[in-house]
Amino acid sequence: METFLFQDDSLVMPEEGEEPLRFRGPASEIIKKTFDSAVFFTAGSPEAPLTAAYIPPEEPLPPGWKAFPLRQWLSRVSAGTIMYDPVAAGPVLRAFHIVQWRAESRFCGSCGTANTDAPDELARLCPACGRREYPRISPAVITIVINGEGKALLAHNNKFSGGMYSLVAGFAEAGESLEGAVEREILEEVNLKVSDIRYITSQPWPFPNSLMLGFVCRYAGGEIRPDGREISDAGWFSRDSLPLIPGFGSVSRYLINLWVEGSL
Ligand SMILES: [Zn+2]
Repeated sequence: METFLFQDDSLVMPEEGEEPLRFRGPASEIIKKTFDSAVFFTAGSPEAPLTAAYIPPEEPLPPGWKAFPLRQWLSRVSAGTIMYDPVAAGPVLRAFHIVQWRAESRFCGSCGTANTDAPDELARLCPACGRREYPRISPAVITIVINGEGKALLAHNNKFSGGMYSLVAGFAEAGESLEGAVEREILEEVNLKVSDIRYITSQPWPFPNSLMLGFVCRYAGGEIRPDGREISDAGWFSRDSLPLIPGFGSVSRYLINLWVEGSL
């Protein structure tokens, strides 16, 4: 049994070392002994048991413990492999996703009764009306657009810190195909038309509850015009003049690296 402990968007782990404790068996007792307020959830399956726990955001950590931002940790464990490492990071991302879902699924969304855990699967069950609720997963598309000169479109989002540039991304809407979401997001955010949309890979991204779906496509027309709302600047970049780009462990970095290597 593995247990991961979270506080806000951070993994809570011993100060020494860079790995979250994969508390096995009695080791989860360490969490119980150290953190009175820890709330535990079963987050795995019979084949891969997993426990997630969280403590309140305002709780000070005792000496010898630290809160390590999960995205930073992900970038660190993924360095060298470029894409996130499903063995190292998969259970952590799953546990984090489940913790957030559990906090948001206390009551039935249909009749308001307090939910219970379903006995037979990872679901919340309403004892009054029988409604089942599963972890919410929101598909989001992220796309590298390549033009006829072999340059890639990178954009600066207002939410990015510093001068970082990344790929255009956004959530699929109700009733929309993933390809439709790619076309719409690129048109909305930078005013370009695209073609030859091709799926490359996916990555869980529970910040919160997203599944990132990575695509490549070709520029098909239009002048770059950032929407000014989400995107403040965008441009075509060649492989040898890249701006600051996202770190390892993200699907955006993975797609950018594929393009730099000439694999797209
Ligand atoms: Zn109900």
